[in-house]
Amino acid sequence: MKFHPQKYTLQDVSMKPFIDEKEIWNYINTTESSTKTVEEIIAKSLSKQRLNLSEVAVLINATDKKSIDLIKAGAKTLKKTIYGNRIVLFAPLYIGNKCQNNCSYCGFRATNKEAVRKTLNDQEIINEIEALQESGQKRLVLVYGEHKDYSPEYIAQNVKLAYSVKKGNGEIRRVNINAAPMDIEGFKTVKDAGIGTFQIFQETYHPEAYKMYHLGGKKADFNNRLTSLDRAQEAGLDDVGIGVLFGLYDWRYEVMALVRHTNHLEACYNVGPHTISFPRIKDASSLEVGSKYFVSDDDFTKLIAILRLAVPYTGMILTAREPAELRDEIMQYGVSQIDGGTKIEIGSYAKVKNSEQNLNKGQFKVSDERSLNEIINELIDKEQIPSFCTACYRVGRTGQHFMEFSVPGFIKKFCTPNAIITLAEYLVDYADDKTAEKGWKLIDKNLDEMTNEKLKKSLIDRIERVKIGERDLIY
Ligand code: SAM
Ligand code: SF4
Repeated sequence: MKFHPQKYTLQDVSMKPFIDEKEIWNYINTTESSTKTVEEIIAKSLSKQRLNLSEVAVLINATDKKSIDLIKAGAKTLKKTIYGNRIVLFAPLYIGNKCQNNCSYCGFRATNKEAVRKTLNDQEIINEIEALQESGQKRLVLVYGEHKDYSPEYIAQNVKLAYSVKKGNGEIRRVNINAAPMDIEGFKTVKDAGIGTFQIFQETYHPEAYKMYHLGGKKADFNNRLTSLDRAQEAGLDDVGIGVLFGLYDWRYEVMALVRHTNHLEACYNVGPHTISFPRIKDASSLEVGSKYFVSDDDFTKLIAILRLAVPYTGMILTAREPAELRDEIMQYGVSQIDGGTKIEIGSYAKVKNSEQNLNKGQFKVSDERSLNEIINELIDKEQIPSFCTACYRVGRTGQHFMEFSVPGFIKKFCTPNAIITLAEYLVDYADDKTAEKGWKLIDKNLDEMTNEKLKKSLIDRIERVKIGERDLIY
């Protein structure tokens, strides 16, 4: 996944801050948009070329219905033609909510005395993971507050524990992390534990706005957070996820900045972000954030479609912060991963009863409360293949999303068959009769549509082996 021959060192990078607020605003304020330019830019994206900042500004400045419809249709086509009909599923697992920072939007902030603090012990982590495995999950993101107790060594130990838990046919095949930035040694430690993606969201790329919301603790240092993924790269951890917490500052600026951050990673390390996330502020215990920049559903949909067109090779993650109907609508504009059956109160997966969400026990309010099985059912109804695939990372095919995007035939050869195999595993091990019946029909339909007879034969053989108990037969 080469973009530029040149490689910079961390020192070059930290000497040159890559977010220039004036430059970004200048693009937004001076770029004109017309239906014709919007059409040309969408055509460029559909021909698999990355968009530059001025092209992204054209899409951002498109406000007439016709142009917005074109942007949404373009993103939909891109997703369908390049990525096909799969959605990857995962679950967040909150390990601990102790936090020494003071982010005014977050229920975990140190000054929130109403928050009930809790860190799972090893047995509780095992209980959570067993409960997740029994619902069919294979991919996790471990989530932490920023606290001295959550050291890189501690996180690495949690990761190893997560991989070691096996309940029935269950296993966790990929553990991603969402935790505080580390130093280079720290990133090396978690990389060595076998993590997938390390996600760090900048929250807002606007330095002044950042200062207003981050009132204490290490996270108050904008530049330290901004350069954190450079340190990850220097540590050899090139699988990183970026994101913005939409609602803190003007969404148009933030979208430009996400693309700017992507350019920076590509230029310096020859590798862009593996994923982009776009959390939107949700109600939290004693929320202290005003509503000036809250993003409407329409703008949220538009910005996701723009990001899909701007950086066509990254994974895009939409979480259960958003309500079910909106997630279903937005998914078609380029989202590749969603969480399912999400619970964010610490220790809540292992609890038998579904209780009311308690804002003092969770970071914020989850809006999509569907179980994993419900989400899988609905995906199947829409002829989307729910996928738990983790193959690329485990067989050493790095830069998975980039390959899906750039290597002709990659999706047909690897992604679709692997999605089908992981769905077959789910149907055998965890699905109820109704879901299983629909799921097998969807698998048959996809098999009928396969044109590579050799691959089809081999896939049918592997599905039969799944039915009699073999697991993890990935391509
Ligand atoms: N503590 C680490 C940090 O701040 O980077 C990692 C975990 S933090 C729990 C994960 C993300 O949740 C944050 O980066 C932020 O974007 C998001 N978040 C915090 N408060 C939120 C809220 N009220 N609504 C939606 N998302 C929120
Ligand atoms: Fe702590 Fe992260 Fe919440 Fe900030 S967003 S208060 S660092 S858990």
